Amino acid sequence: MPIHEYVPLEPPGCALCCYGFERLERLSDAALTHCTACGAPVRRVLGAPAITTGGAHLLREGHLAKNGFTQYRKVGKGHYEKTTGDGPDTIGGD
Ligand SMILES: [Zn+2]
Repeated sequence: MPIHEYVPLEPPGCALCCYGFERLERLSDAALTHCTACGAPVRRVLGAPAITTGGAHLLREGHLAKNGFTQYRKVGKGHYEKTTGDGPDTIGGD
């Protein structure tokens, strides 16, 4: 079952909807149009952009190095060259 996120159309809303809220819904459920707690109009937010952009951000080389990771790229059979981080400059090869 997908989790849908709702945000208030007319802030501030109530304790439930003021910062948006998530609701587990079956595919057959109709989208909410009003907050279930205070009845304020809400709209459904599509997708989960926070997860997508967060993942991409983690892959940035600067972020990897800052968190102590070392990243390598493959330059030959069993031979890797460091792109960022504190590890050895190369792995494998000769
Ligand atoms: Zn509300």
